[in-house]
Amino acid sequence: MIPASFDYVRATSLSQVIGLLQDDPDGTKLVAGGHTLIPTLKLRLASPALLIDIGSIQELKGMEVADQIRIGALTTHAELLASKSLGGVLPIFHLAADMIADPQVRNRGTIGGSLANADPAADWPAVVVALNAELEIAGPAGRRRIAAKDFFIDIFTTALEPGEVLTAIHVARPSAGTKFRYRKIRHPASGYAVVGVAVCVGLKGDIVSHASIGITGAAGHAFAAEPAMEFLTGKRLTPEIIEEAARLASEQAECLSDHYASADYRKHLVRTEVARALASLIEAT
Ligand SMILES: Cc1cc2nc3c(=O)[nH]c(=O)nc-3n(C[C@H](O)[C@H](O)[C@H](O)COP(=O)(O)OP(=O)(O)OC[C@H]3O[C@@H](n4cnc5c(N)ncnc54)[C@H](O)[C@@H]3O)c2cc1C
Repeated sequence: MIPASFDYVRATSLSQVIGLLQDDPDGTKLVAGGHTLIPTLKLRLASPALLIDIGSIQELKGMEVADQIRIGALTTHAELLASKSLGGVLPIFHLAADMIADPQVRNRGTIGGSLANADPAADWPAVVVALNAELEIAGPAGRRRIAAKDFFIDIFTTALEPGEVLTAIHVARPSAGTKFRYRKIRHPASGYAVVGVAVCVGLKGDIVSHASIGITGAAGHAFAAEPAMEFLTGKRLTPEIIEEAARLASEQAECLSDHYASADYRKHLVRTEVARALASLIEAT
């Protein structure tokens, strides 16, 4: 449980990080909250020559809640849980943060670290996919943005190129009346999502004006339940419609299998959790 030796730099600016990464992108690792990376180093699953601590970089911190919402990559789970301005506009950040691990992990772990790490069972990927968020990335070629649904490529694999840094999450302010749910079946040992479902639904009366569903835990990476979303749009949210949308989401999911949950069980959980999340919207009206 002792990491291999490495050099350590506490970076003070993003340009410094990008410069250092260019020297040796494969032999360098960034550390944000360290709650995933430090155990990885201790188990020697990674042995970087250089560790760059990005935790002091001001431009990666903070939140702006206006017509566009910008969340810096270094924002911790606890800050997302506590923010009243964010919670008033996008309560799903509060709902999901509240289900992540424990106060110790929430106080150190960052949303940027979680998204960049792309653990297939992490919570934030489902949320940013459901919100149609854009992820802002900085690298040697400048800045770019990518839709969250295109960011997650495979287990622990994202669209980040070597030498790039995830800098922020951008979300458009939702239209008035949009409703949010986050549901998660926790792994009993780790607390991560066996299946997690993030739902954003606009309702005009009981007619769905728009629906967006992000799913984590089920497959190798978070995904948008597009067939279910298309099916729901324009429909009255009845128990039958909900059941069909949940079936479509479950059918779409290419589920993982492990010693705790088989692929069939995960498919079943996608169906029940999507159905429960949607049903709770009509129960609340
Ligand atoms: C006991 C325990 C329980 C947990 N339970 C949950 C849970 O229920 N749900 C959940 O979602 N998560 C859970 N986590 C994970 C936790 O949320 C982590 O904090 C998170 O996954 C990683 O964030 P971090 O800031 O600690 O990243 P780090 O560990 O510092 O970094 C993780 C990886 O991302 C890279 N990285 C970090 N920041 C950036 C960036 N800005 N740009 C590019 N690359 C970057 C690092 O190089 C590293 O490869 C748990 C962790 C622990 C230890």
